[in-house]
Amino acid sequence: MAADERFNGLARLARRHFNVALSLIIRLDGGRPAIAGCDGLPLSEAARALTLCAAALPSAELLVVADTRGDPRFAQAPQGLDALLPFYAACPLLATDGTPLGALCLFDGQSHHLDASQRDSLQELAMQAAALLVGDHALLHLQAEADILRDSERRLAQAIAGSLTGIWERNFQTGEIIYSKGWKAMLGYSENEVSNRIEDSYLRVHPDDLAYVQATIQAHFDGLTERYEVEHRIRCKDGRYKWICSRGQVVGRDNAGKPLRMIGTTSDISATRAMSESLQQSVDLITSLTNEVPGLVFQYRRRPDGAAYFSYVSAGIQDIYEVRADQVANDTAAIEAIIHPDDLPAYAASLDLSALNLTPWHLEYRVVLPRQGLRWRQGDARPQRLEDGSTLWHGFITDVTERKRIEAELQEFATIDFLTQLPNRRHFMAQIDAELARIQRGTDHSAAVLMCDLDHFKSINDQWGHAIGDLALKHFASLLREQLRKIDIAGRVGGEEFAVVLVGADSAEAVAFAQRVQQRMAASPLFDGDRHIPLTISVGVAVMESSDASALASLSRSDTALYRAKQNGRNRIEYQPLSAAPVAQA
Ligand code: GH3
Ligand code: MG
Ligand code: MG
Repeated sequence: MAADERFNGLARLARRHFNVALSLIIRLDGGRPAIAGCDGLPLSEAARALTLCAAALPSAELLVVADTRGDPRFAQAPQGLDALLPFYAACPLLATDGTPLGALCLFDGQSHHLDASQRDSLQELAMQAAALLVGDHALLHLQAEADILRDSERRLAQAIAGSLTGIWERNFQTGEIIYSKGWKAMLGYSENEVSNRIEDSYLRVHPDDLAYVQATIQAHFDGLTERYEVEHRIRCKDGRYKWICSRGQVVGRDNAGKPLRMIGTTSDISATRAMSESLQQSVDLITSLTNEVPGLVFQYRRRPDGAAYFSYVSAGIQDIYEVRADQVANDTAAIEAIIHPDDLPAYAASLDLSALNLTPWHLEYRVVLPRQGLRWRQGDARPQRLEDGSTLWHGFITDVTERKRIEAELQEFATIDFLTQLPNRRHFMAQIDAELARIQRGTDHSAAVLMCDLDHFKSINDQWGHAIGDLALKHFASLLREQLRKIDIAGRVGGEEFAVVLVGADSAEAVAFAQRVQQRMAASPLFDGDRHIPLTISVGVAVMESSDASALASLSRSDTALYRAKQNGRNRIEYQPLSAAPVAQA
């Protein structure tokens, strides 16, 4: 800082009083000496004298050197300062606590002796200079503090403006609330548009929120809460409502504890509120979708170490597995316990395969449930690999018990003759084809093929009616079934024609079989009331040969034999060998 007139004046007073060549007032700026005031030389030249002071400044006491010549402290004094030395006196400038602030220095080309009163005068002048320096220090300090305060105030104001926060102060004695500019702006008001009366503040609160807001603030007034914080809707200037969060605290109470002053903030939370509402709506939608969809919607995770659990299951888990969500949240033992033991290996293997190749999981499997019993389930899910090596499936499981039942029924319809419950022609042909293939593969394997046809069946229909005809067909089928072993194959291959394959049998065994059937028919006559319905069969017998081109070949041989049985009078058994002449059996 350049020398200023206050210090120059003091320096002048000292030079004149002591009649010296140069008087300097030196200040310590951060420990370095600088000229605060000077008299006797222009400032630029006086600066050279500073080097002289350097040796003898930091003294707490007044220093008077009448003659510097021969004094080692001045041995290094620069040349050309003859007019300023040999007299040197320096009086320290001290703060009230003794901190060195600088010095008042006198220089002269002639030696001086200072008596006690002169020394007092010098010290008085030094005290004046010190007082000025202390004042300057205090001023500088104050300015610096004011700067800091201004800065932090500015930052606070910016932060408040940036955070969409308004500030208010409530005075219980005047019944007023003072709102900040930002508070008013938040609701779309300009400076003078908002009333300061407390009653009016409640008129802006949404009617549905008012009771809650008043109860919350009352609880704080009553000292029941540390601070007041409430989220509610508030009416803006344009009549629309905004969601805000209001926080505040009573900062002064009277002796009876009644609040005097309260300050607080108001933040606009409409955006976060709208976001969380729309998030909640999405969550609700997904939850109701997954819960309303019949079946179980799930997220299933399997870790690289094999640990597996359901990270999400819809409410359908109750119906599908009869367990609760928390029972499968950590492991899947509860599920494995209810999967049908015969299907468990396929269940595990299908998931392994899906995880390995990341192919969609699809499986139909049975579960045995405490309440519903044996049920069919169908699972479908898509896997994905996570960063940690886990596999995550999203999918659903549905109840396919009814479909499985219908499929089984359809399968039966397709293969079983409804009237007689014997395999139909198509199913019989498939089975006899398989039997021929077995004979052709084997060595000592054989089978006999029999064709049975009810005799004069047309006239039974004609005489007794079609329903009795049906009854006769069922009667015969049940007698035939009685004679069959598990390994034998039988089928209704025409209206009243039945074919039989006796696995492992030769022609003699086949004829014996046919005879047993005829005997059973004779022994179990069919009646309509007390009228006997005559029922006999004709049977053609042949043997299946490995040389047969198809199963039809042996069937047609037995057909030939049957034809002969009819020709020869019915209620007979005929055998048709492969090539030899026909042989009548009965
Ligand atoms: P044959 O001794 O020569 O075998 O004389 P048939 O009368 O049995 O001869 P045919 O094979 O010509 O007649 C079979 C009759 O069986 C004709 C048909 O009306 C009857 N029929 C075929 N399917 C059914 C059926 O499902 N129910 C009843 N009631 N009759 C049937
Ligand atoms: Mg017939
Ligand atoms: Mg017939």
